[in-house]
Amino acid sequence: MQRIVIIGTGQGGQQAATSLRQEGFAGEILMIGDEPGLPYQRPPLSKAYMASGDADALLLKPAAFYERSSIILRDGTRAARIDRTAQEVETEDGARHGYDHLILATGARNFRPPLPNLDAPGVAELRTLADAESIRRRLAHTRHAVVVGGGFIGLEFAAMARAANVSVTVIEAAPRLMARAVSPQMSDLFLKLHWSMGTEILLGTMAAAVMTDADGNAAGITLADGREVAGDLVLIATGVRPNVELAAEAGLTCRNGIVVDGSLLTDDPAISALGDVAAFPGPLGRHVRLESVQAAVDHARHIARRLMRPAPQPYASVPWFWSDQGKHKLQIAGLATDADDCIVLPQPTGEPVILLFKEGCLAAVETINAPAIHMSARRLIATPSAVLAACDYDLRQAAKTAAPVAH
Ligand SMILES: Cc1cc2nc3c(=O)[nH]c(=O)nc-3n(C[C@H](O)[C@H](O)[C@H](O)COP(=O)(O)OP(=O)(O)OC[C@H]3O[C@@H](n4cnc5c(N)ncnc54)[C@H](O)[C@@H]3O)c2cc1C
Repeated sequence: MQRIVIIGTGQGGQQAATSLRQEGFAGEILMIGDEPGLPYQRPPLSKAYMASGDADALLLKPAAFYERSSIILRDGTRAARIDRTAQEVETEDGARHGYDHLILATGARNFRPPLPNLDAPGVAELRTLADAESIRRRLAHTRHAVVVGGGFIGLEFAAMARAANVSVTVIEAAPRLMARAVSPQMSDLFLKLHWSMGTEILLGTMAAAVMTDADGNAAGITLADGREVAGDLVLIATGVRPNVELAAEAGLTCRNGIVVDGSLLTDDPAISALGDVAAFPGPLGRHVRLESVQAAVDHARHIARRLMRPAPQPYASVPWFWSDQGKHKLQIAGLATDADDCIVLPQPTGEPVILLFKEGCLAAVETINAPAIHMSARRLIATPSAVLAACDYDLRQAAKTAAPVAH
């Protein structure tokens, strides 16, 4: 194999290039990304970056790394088309780049709900460094922020805005916070934590339109029941959609993401997909798409290993995730969705630990500010509940004797 092209210069694309070199790939690596500049991490955009404004601290690697590793980085360049027959990627400037293997790391973009006046000045979304820079500038003059969406990004932003003394209302259509990703018990805990930060939260409430003032600037949100929530900054944080268009137009199967097999290959053996855009066979036996640093990084490492080593194992990393909301670090090991049983373990100090089970085995563990328990939990996913009951659900004790999990 002579030439590997990676489309997308985010967390997963960057890791794929790095891991290929670590695995000994000596051929050409070309990264094509439509964002300007060096690859950077997104998680701090809704956390530390908002306070510090330090964009250099976001970089995944310094500029010298790409030169030293002979990785060609075409930033600010959009891939427009994949020609699978010729094994070439065409970029928007008309250039064609041949590949022996292609890695699709195109990530996701924010979902824009069909609300009137969504393009009014003062309406923001948060996905890129450019988004974060613009929000940061506005926040200094904001009195009341209205957040549409009570998921991770909306709540991280809400906590950060409260710390900056901005008053905040969060509007969430579901009856609980972070409903797609955490247990009802954890949703409830975070509702109280956000109340204690002084955030107003409207659950089971639909946004209907962005209100505008006489100059056409955003002035808040009109709710479906006719009430109005006034505010001078509106953040739309209603989830993401995977960037599948390139793959779909090239005839690859896409269903809530680019569908890949257990080794992260698409239906074309010369094309892999990873991270936010990849729908892969998950731990519960059905295809899942995870929006996390862990998935992007572990997928990338797996693809690099598979390309460089004969007969690799199928992809089998335990999913994990974190979210910093004010002083509270939520960590999730495993997948909390589809659980059929739950045990809430009160802790002598701090918040409870929540164990979620599926068909008698540990499926996920949710913790707040308890990193040691989270690390133990990652080793214990899929352990039968009887084994954990035998040691009184002391996860740190149980992890000492657990078999190592695949990473
Ligand atoms: C504000 C924020 C906070 C987050 N916090 C956390 C957190 O606390 N914990 C956590 O685990 N995860 C967090 N995430 C999610 C995490 O950042 C993503 O899961 C991760 O970045 C996914 O990596 P990726 O490489 O799949 O996609 P991305 O990092 O999104 O990279 C994809 C890149 O491909 C580019 N691209 C798309 N199409 C094309 C094309 N046709 N041509 C060229 N380039 C293209 C995109 O512009 C983008 O630059 C957060 C995300 C955001 C936005």
